Amino acid sequence: MSKESKDYSKYFDFSDAKVMKREDGKTTYRFKGREITINSAPDYQDEKKRGKQDIQVLSFEHPETEKVMESFREINQTKQRYYAIYTYGCQMNEHDTEVMRGMFEKMGYVSTDDRIQADVILFNTCAIRENAEDKVFGELGHMKTLKQQKPDLILGVCGCMSQEASVVNKIMRKHPHVDLIFGTHNIHRLPFLLQEAHFGKEMVIEVWSKEGDIIENMPTKREGLIAWVNIMYGCDKFCTYCIVPYTRGKERSRMPEDVLAEVRELARQGFKEITLLGQNVNAYGKDFTDRNYRFGDLMDDIRKIDIPRVRFTTSHPRDFDDHLIEVLAKGGNLVEHIHLPVQSGSTEILKRMSRKYSRELFLELVRKIRAAIPDAVLTTDIIVGFPGETEEQFEDTMSLVREVKFASAYTFIYSPREGTPAAEMADDVPFEVKQQRLQRLNALIAELSLESNKLVDGQTVEVLVEGESKSRAGVLSGRTRSNKLIHFQGPAEWIGQFVQVRVTEPRTWYITAEAVVGPAVQASANAG
Ligand code: SF4
Repeated sequence: MSKESKDYSKYFDFSDAKVMKREDGKTTYRFKGREITINSAPDYQDEKKRGKQDIQVLSFEHPETEKVMESFREINQTKQRYYAIYTYGCQMNEHDTEVMRGMFEKMGYVSTDDRIQADVILFNTCAIRENAEDKVFGELGHMKTLKQQKPDLILGVCGCMSQEASVVNKIMRKHPHVDLIFGTHNIHRLPFLLQEAHFGKEMVIEVWSKEGDIIENMPTKREGLIAWVNIMYGCDKFCTYCIVPYTRGKERSRMPEDVLAEVRELARQGFKEITLLGQNVNAYGKDFTDRNYRFGDLMDDIRKIDIPRVRFTTSHPRDFDDHLIEVLAKGGNLVEHIHLPVQSGSTEILKRMSRKYSRELFLELVRKIRAAIPDAVLTTDIIVGFPGETEEQFEDTMSLVREVKFASAYTFIYSPREGTPAAEMADDVPFEVKQQRLQRLNALIAELSLESNKLVDGQTVEVLVEGESKSRAGVLSGRTRSNKLIHFQGPAEWIGQFVQVRVTEPRTWYITAEAVVGPAVQASANAG
């Protein structure tokens, strides 16, 4: 069936449902023994649209929101309630979870890892690959017994999967014990949705399919020493295999003053490292109509803030401009690690993926980066077995990987995502061939990773200590500026500090080292 002829309305066929009530734009149905209130259902056609309306910057702080949160605080004072969130997928989702945690804690809930103790369980889901979705459906199946034992438990599904009509439909039909489904544009509505689910008996569905606004002043509960900072949302690239532009809306950048204020506050709170987040951070500022301010300008301003390390993810090679390279070359807190997803080394496949650059343009970008930042460590994402990929085209990927010498890579076997243009192409590379290509690619990446790690053999490098090794007592682990994983002996008090270590044994996926300068001396050396 062609993309045009696909009938997405079939997902919301309520011919076998009874309308119970229509009120304030919401409809309540009785469907397979459960009442379902639909505030708003996902709509594929709307998710695809890119209109001209202005992006609104709204504030989470509002008297109505505060009133609802206060009512939950009162409930939690009478009897303490607990929440648990299970997060799948990328850092964007991890950060969305931090925001939801912030809201829960403002409402007086306490976090728990114990499902039996939890009064609310949310699955913050990822739609990028089919097996990620299968895992969530498996978990929802397991939750049925828990829900029978604990009928007051509120079970919710949010994140990218919720933006897919087929997923919402499947949950309604096969997992009626779910109480709440909300989308990526509805996260700030959590207090209101929780109120509906808490006081009503129906399953509540609210998934906006709009292009998206920006909500500022969201409460956020961050843990650890590394903080994520959203600088933009959405994506307009529409790579043919990717579902993100549909689930996350259009590219929209936060105002520089809001981003800079947040980074300054994180520096004040003592965070040692931040990662700037966006589906395509290099498109930052393209949507501003009142100023000419792009990602390079933002990085240049963040460079002046007293936070020791600044990373960013993820980059699209097409928008990686010369000004950004110039700014990154200034170093300081801007680290020498660049994650640059190439996806394929074949111009023909890149065209079919609609990546909007060729093999030659990618190599030219790498050449410019290496000329400006000679010690830059590059990592990437690669898909093997894209529809129509020939052996020769796969070899183009292998030769590009060899030429660039990526230090590591996230590698994937192509699998079609419903609703994307690539899903309409013939998925004609046999699975065994895809698997074999993945193995060959991974073997090459392992070789290059070891080669890259050997480059620092015997050198002294700065490590931000993240924690203790789970399997080896007394061994700490942390990362260098270039994102290399280091293991070394040291006391637990060094966690969260910068330590100078000498590399003693480079391995394929990590490096063994020994401490040469402890954190006390290092603290001042890292200032600025
Ligand atoms: S740039 Fe391409 S792969 Fe990345 S989020 Fe956008 S559409 Fe998906």
